[in-house]
Amino acid sequence: MTSVAAPGAYAYPRARTRKLTPSQVREIVKRRKAGERAGDLAEEFGVATSAISYHTNHLRVGTKPIAHGTYRGRQQHLRAGSKPCADCAQAHRTYMRDYTRRKAA
Ligand SMILES: [Zn+2]
Repeated sequence: MTSVAAPGAYAYPRARTRKLTPSQVREIVKRRKAGERAGDLAEEFGVATSAISYHTNHLRVGTKPIAHGTYRGRQQHLRAGSKPCADCAQAHRTYMRDYTRRKAA
């Protein structure tokens, strides 16, 4: 019992050495697109601002409008790291239902 270090003594990871998990990257991308500043996100996630830019720079935000209400639109949502809207989700359900029906026939 005595050899165990007090929990939480070094719980704080040093900034700039921490790696981002895929789910953290997804969240950062989403929040950057929503307009949050890279510096704020960097601080919150304990990484350098350049790491935030690295993960979000390649995104050409808003170059192509999403074709809402289509199966393709749903894929565009997912590629952009966002949740498909109701119209796109419905289009996907319809697509999958037709697909299953075709297969069963
Ligand atoms: Zn949509």
